[in-house]
Amino acid sequence: EVPAFNTLAVNCIADPNAALLPRVPGLADDLFRSDGTMTKREVRAATLAKLMPMRGALLWDIGTGSGSVAIEWIRAARSARAIGIEPRADRRAMAAENALALGAPRLDLRDGEVPQALENLPSPDAVFIGGGLSEEVYDAAFAALKPLGRLVANAVTLESESLLMTLHVKHGGDLVRIAVERAESVGRYRGWRPSMGVTQWSLVK
Ligand code: SAH
Repeated sequence: EVPAFNTLAVNCIADPNAALLPRVPGLADDLFRSDGTMTKREVRAATLAKLMPMRGALLWDIGTGSGSVAIEWIRAARSARAIGIEPRADRRAMAAENALALGAPRLDLRDGEVPQALENLPSPDAVFIGGGLSEEVYDAAFAALKPLGRLVANAVTLESESLLMTLHVKHGGDLVRIAVERAESVGRYRGWRPSMGVTQWSLVK
């Protein structure tokens, strides 16, 4: 039962080994349990840099999936807090497990779909949109952001990328494309294996 597990996680002491891992974002991908839809290491590090974790600050992680972004936010700054919104119970369970294993048991996981799930949440210092992006979701998130709050949205599909292009024209900010290739074996040799490119839009309120 996912909500019960999360409640348990909040009251548990996290895995003590997590304290040995660096607080700087960009933890290795294999430290997280995921079903493959997770934000990968290099993109995650670039995403957290723009979200700018700060002491006591609150992140909304929309489409939290395995929780990787919210977990690195919580680890990066003292008393940082995060609300992760994810409609899939299997992914919320993974996020809860990752949060516990990586020393971020404060991750507050919520079942629901944006934009409805954003109603009545406390105002965030930063918003990450990793799934469920729409113009409505952007409007609601930006309206709720505190002054000088940061918003970052990542897109891998053409449809969500085209929405980011529209939002960039309307609202400004930075539009960046991140392409990562990793050296892998090709028989006795090695070759570059590209990951899907990520389009990242960010702005400060
Ligand atoms: N940031 C995640 C990866 C997200 S994949 C990580 O690093 O693990 C995108 C996620 O968005 C999926 O888990 C999907 O279930 C979720 N999602 C899709 N539509 C949504 C919506 N309307 N509201 C909230 N989450 C949504």
